[in-house]
Amino acid sequence: MFSYDRYGDPFDLSEDEFESFVDNMTKREYDGTEYLHLSDYGRVERGTVLYDGEVVRGFPKVPRTLVLSEGVPRQFDGEVAVEEKMNGYNTRVARLDGDKLAFSRSGIVCPFTTKFLGRVYGDELDALFDEIPDAVVCGEMIGRDNPYTAHGYEEVGSLDLRVFDVRDARSGESVPVDERRELVEEHGLPSVPFYGVHDADEAAGEIREVIEDLDERGREGVIMKTPDVSKQLKYTTSAANQGDLAYAFSLPFDYGQAFMFRRIIREAFQAHEFDDGGETKERAAALGESILGSMVETVGRIDDGERVGERHTVRAAPEEVDAILEHFRGMGLHLVIEEDRVEGDERFVEFVKKTQATNDKTENYLEGGIVRE
Ligand code: ATP
Ligand code: MG
Repeated sequence: MFSYDRYGDPFDLSEDEFESFVDNMTKREYDGTEYLHLSDYGRVERGTVLYDGEVVRGFPKVPRTLVLSEGVPRQFDGEVAVEEKMNGYNTRVARLDGDKLAFSRSGIVCPFTTKFLGRVYGDELDALFDEIPDAVVCGEMIGRDNPYTAHGYEEVGSLDLRVFDVRDARSGESVPVDERRELVEEHGLPSVPFYGVHDADEAAGEIREVIEDLDERGREGVIMKTPDVSKQLKYTTSAANQGDLAYAFSLPFDYGQAFMFRRIIREAFQAHEFDDGGETKERAAALGESILGSMVETVGRIDDGERVGERHTVRAAPEEVDAILEHFRGMGLHLVIEEDRVEGDERFVEFVKKTQATNDKTENYLEGGIVRE
């Protein structure tokens, strides 16, 4: 069913390599159709999907620079297009056999995003797919009522899409930045904010200013791209690095230690590049607050008998809310529903994804449990 003859040719793999690629994929089902998705890194992009005879390439991993002034000119020559990096969750929408499906970063059909985007942007997406049938619309789902990554944006009330790429489903090749921004606008879809195209030699200074402005506004960062999007590079603000740290350290035993360490490293290199002595002192105090402040708060809350977890809200059509709750439960997440009410045509649910390790370990230590190190 998932044979080399049917799917193999876009991947540039031998028949044997294709077989081991398929062996590494996970089988799932959506609406009666079995499909495979690649949730690991390998020669083919993570998130690649084989669905009913069609291929949807994963969104490539975006490398990061820790030093703008050296990293940008080293990674780019010619021109660099700069777009805001928005903090939400990645979605890829493709029209397969007439159905518009939204895939997660790892290539799972997200029934919530599929239904939500079908309702909100169904006609706009259809018009774009009529023009480019093999397109994959890649974007970030942002806003406070977000089941995966809750981060508020003042310009988004609840939850919305921001498109940052349009790719060919089989080859993964992108529509060039300028052309894509026009195409997306023409079809009435919203794009991520744009910070222009710069000469690679001079871009670092301009990006530095963009970053300082985004940082003040509590936003995540930028993605730099060659105009044809064959190369991408990311860089984040201190607000994002410290915000992630505060969040991760509020659930210290549930987050991977590598996640935390990487963000501290980013701050060190940014301090070296951006700060004078006084600024580094301020940054250090704020970093300490993000780490220790949020952890102490968690310990206090658990000591007061509260249970901590990842809190999310969703506000959407009732069947969309059902779809996300069922999807999470199907993936084995333990959800505690804290609020559930109808608001006009919409249903609002506030839920907590239980994070067992932080609750259990903290409670145990508070009761004098021994630490084995
Ligand atoms: P990876 O680095 O593998 O993509 P990650 O989860 O670590 O995974 P991030 O650090 O968030 O990813 O950076 C890449 C992600 O940024 C993309 O997958 C995409 O979802 C998101 N993103 C937000 N805005 C943009 C943009 N303007 N252009 C490209 N990607 C963007
Ligand atoms: Mg992200």
